[in-house]
Amino acid sequence: MAGIYIHIPFCNQFCTYCNFYSVKGKALRNSFVAALHREIEDKKLFFHGSGVAPQTVYVGGGTPSLLQASQLGEILSHIKEAFNFIPVEATVEVNPDDITPQYARELFQAGFNRVSMGVQSFHDSHLLWMNRRHSGEQAVQAYRNLRDAGFTNISLDLIFGYGGLSMQQWKENVGKIMELSPEHISAYQMSIEPGSALCKLLEKGEYDLVPDSLCHEQYSVLQQMLAEGGYTQYEISNFARMDSEGNLMISKHNSSYWTKEPYLGLGPAAHSYNGRQRLWNGNSVTAYCRHYTEMPIMTTSKRSLLEFGGYEELTTEDVFNESIMLGLRTVEGVLLSSLDQSLLLEVRGEISRHCRLGNLVMEGDKIRIPSEKLFVSDGIIKDLFI
Ligand code: SF4
Repeated sequence: MAGIYIHIPFCNQFCTYCNFYSVKGKALRNSFVAALHREIEDKKLFFHGSGVAPQTVYVGGGTPSLLQASQLGEILSHIKEAFNFIPVEATVEVNPDDITPQYARELFQAGFNRVSMGVQSFHDSHLLWMNRRHSGEQAVQAYRNLRDAGFTNISLDLIFGYGGLSMQQWKENVGKIMELSPEHISAYQMSIEPGSALCKLLEKGEYDLVPDSLCHEQYSVLQQMLAEGGYTQYEISNFARMDSEGNLMISKHNSSYWTKEPYLGLGPAAHSYNGRQRLWNGNSVTAYCRHYTEMPIMTTSKRSLLEFGGYEELTTEDVFNESIMLGLRTVEGVLLSSLDQSLLLEVRGEISRHCRLGNLVMEGDKIRIPSEKLFVSDGIIKDLFI
């Protein structure tokens, strides 16, 4: 299922652990939206000739909910019209303290049918340390506002594996999120991203890494509690429950990344993939606004690529490694027949070794990482790279 991603590069404050490209840029927001509309026109032939049509839209960031709901609605409408489709899934990422009852209603009326909201923790001391803009109670209220507005597909994010998060507090976070009963839960281990405030704290000796054994224990508790609560794990960090009609509410948009469907990324620093090439936009909002305001619309991405961004041709090895990496992140695993067969021969020995160790399960034409080994998947996956 091909999709379109839109990067909204604004945050009012920066989370301790984050190194995503975003700026405060209050004065730039209207120019950015105008430039984005021009980029949509410029790239509207992206899927032509690829044999696929987009089916999902994901507005992420940054913090999309810093834009007015009407601006987000106009972006979504323009995408539908330019690419000529009705999205089966239109997700917008939001920050809890932006979600007033009115804003939630406006987002729903704008045509979004899925919301992804970063909760991260229900403990206010953790949220303060993470430099989040909201309290645990605000996240609960925002969730209720989204439900009252009509959203029937909500995803909430949690983070584990950071200093100061005890096992008891983690269980409370997982328990609390299950009480809310969102259709989808994502849980990420805190990582030290280069350039993040957390990375600087670590370098100054003001943050201690959490032992891997504790992170592993927290991950196992997460898997166990969510399984008992009726959530199905379908990817390393992602869990979904059934809706009232018996549909498993996975993220259709993100699932397309793992199955290597083409996608178009719009906005500064956004990446695209067309099956043969990886393409990207430059990461400066001011340069982005200048580029798309000044250039004539070409309805082809060629000139944009040369002037604002770049692309690389993917080698057979790149495609093989990406298929292994993305496929083995999913609980389903990867079909061996979908891989380059001569490269597969080179890693057959490693596959057999990991099967003997119980790190991989071979089922017919498929290999997958069993649930109890997903926490150590990075090491297993690297061993299968060319
Ligand atoms: S985690 Fe999200 S809200 Fe926080 S700084 Fe990064 S992009 Fe902004």
